[in-house]
Amino acid sequence: MWGGGTSDEVIVPTVSFVGAGNAVCDAGAKLVLCDVDKRTLNTTAELIEKKITKNTKALLLLHYGGIPCEMDEIMALAKAYNLKVIEDCAPGVCSSYKGQHLGTIGDMGMWSFDAMKILVCGDGSILHFKDPEIKNKADKLLYFGLESKSGYSNTVDKKWWNFDISCFGHRAIMNDITASMALVQLDRLPEFMEKRKACNDAYTEQLSEVEWIMTPPELPSYCTTSYYFYHIQLNNEFRDDLAKYLRDNDIYTTYRYYPLHHVSGYGVTADCPNADWAAEHTLNLPLHQSLSLDEVSFICDKIKEFGKIKNL
Ligand SMILES: *Cc1c(COP(=O)(O)O)cnc(C)c1O
Repeated sequence: MWGGGTSDEVIVPTVSFVGAGNAVCDAGAKLVLCDVDKRTLNTTAELIEKKITKNTKALLLLHYGGIPCEMDEIMALAKAYNLKVIEDCAPGVCSSYKGQHLGTIGDMGMWSFDAMKILVCGDGSILHFKDPEIKNKADKLLYFGLESKSGYSNTVDKKWWNFDISCFGHRAIMNDITASMALVQLDRLPEFMEKRKACNDAYTEQLSEVEWIMTPPELPSYCTTSYYFYHIQLNNEFRDDLAKYLRDNDIYTTYRYYPLHHVSGYGVTADCPNADWAAEHTLNLPLHQSLSLDEVSFICDKIKEFGKIKNL
């Protein structure tokens, strides 16, 4: 979108959703992967800077689980090197950094409303652009690249059915039915946040006494989150065993996100020791707005039971 020449590089944290990697490659740019902080799984200005070259054009950041990256430092870095900043805050519908909503700090931000998210409407999203010119370009890209609007709103006097395209865009728009569901879900967001926060806090209360587990780092006072993930980290080599034990007890856990520098389809190698450590020690516990506090306690009890079996 910002050139697309094959020498253009976009830096993406290796702990990112597959869609981020694909977007860079699909645009014909070079995917450059950087490491993340071991505990937050967010990347940092320091880790990004190591990957900047004269060809770097943009950063595609992930706010892991809706928890903000340190944006002051990252925006200062982007300014110094003249880089565009794209924020993937897919699940960060209620997240903010120093009073500003995530997704509105960089040049572009996006939120997802797919079935796995917090505000869910089947499928859909919101994109935010700082520069109206790029917004107009995106408008066309998301609807076949059509230069003009169809229907009665088209202001052309004669032969309004003729058209031109500016690019080979896709049809990637929402529809009124899913949008109406999203509006109802929007009203329910405060209630969803309350429920998620209660589960989040109950996990922290019950697991912080477990010596072999690190609960997520404390949220800085100037940030709000959307409680999308609850990720624990083990100080031993039993993460896979714990996942299996919980699964045998009907508790589904997972690890997000398998680092992109290990995805052979991208063919991008990178030295990311923190992401490698995280991929072996982190587990995302269930967290959603239909989870009850009794269920959270049940999960914590099973985790403690596992610790006893393993003599931890
Ligand atoms: C869900 C998700 C996406 C993709 O959202 P879509 O609505 O499928 O486009 C991108 N990034 C992150 C971090 C996600 O969790």
